[in-house]
Amino acid sequence: MLAYRHQFHAGAFADVFKHALLAQLVLALEKKDKPFLYLDTHAGIGLYDLMHEWAQKNAEHKEGIELIWARKDAPPEMMPFLDAVRAENADGKLRYYPGSPRVVRGLMRAGDRMVLTELNRKDCEALATLFVRDRQVTVELSDGYQALKAHLPPKERRGLVFIDSSFDRAQEFKRLTQGFAEAYKKFATGVYVLWYPLMEPAVMQAFERRVAATGIRKILQLEISVHPREWTLTLRGCGLLVVNPPFGFEAAACAILAWLWPVLSREKAGGQQVKWLVAE
Ligand code: SAM
Repeated sequence: MLAYRHQFHAGAFADVFKHALLAQLVLALEKKDKPFLYLDTHAGIGLYDLMHEWAQKNAEHKEGIELIWARKDAPPEMMPFLDAVRAENADGKLRYYPGSPRVVRGLMRAGDRMVLTELNRKDCEALATLFVRDRQVTVELSDGYQALKAHLPPKERRGLVFIDSSFDRAQEFKRLTQGFAEAYKKFATGVYVLWYPLMEPAVMQAFERRVAATGIRKILQLEISVHPREWTLTLRGCGLLVVNPPFGFEAAACAILAWLWPVLSREKAGGQQVKWLVAE
């Protein structure tokens, strides 16, 4: 039984950050006619009720989706994500928050395919129920790192792979890097998205060194932090590594982060950045 349940964190600033960027990646892939596989290795339950007692416990969505939901000044690059949230809340009141499978599913075309893996049995059951009659979606109770081995390379030869670990075990940075590097060996042309939490500078430097040491190129790094560096009470910030980002994604990401950070960081602490960890 895994201790981490995403229901406690649904709609937090980290979700808003990753899902707004993920939506842009899907749209960028769809600029070509050819179908693709979306593989979500740590999928969660797909749709979150923000009134659920777990979501209410720390009410993290109040510092995330609730801050941006009603804003009128969001840039066009935020719209695919905001539309996905609005689609779950047709009465105009924010109650349901879409997880990554649901955000991406809303943007997929008829020929695209989605494989979702989740290791928590209960969460996997909820996810399977959500997509029960959907022929484009496969839900599996399995370890996400095993799923990378099982599903790559995809038959479509095009793919978006989201590795969104809950980081609830020691050595997760190492596991993430290894899992990604092994997957890349099988499928070097895929677009990979790796989420990570911001921890102490020494940990982050070691992670970046380890990723760079794989020799893999074309890695864009995006980070947002809503608290100062010394903050230790909750997550201070997080990042995404996007490997093989499609054309146009970097500009969209810059527009998203430039708008998101001042809205999400109420005390104007932390910051945001988009940079190449490893260039082409
Ligand atoms: N990707 C989801 C989204 O954006 O809506 C959120 C995922 S949440 C951060 C991480 C999920 O990974 C949790 O639901 C947890 O149960 C699951 N998990 C943890 N370890 C896993 C593993 N080794 N393989 C697959 N799922 C795992």
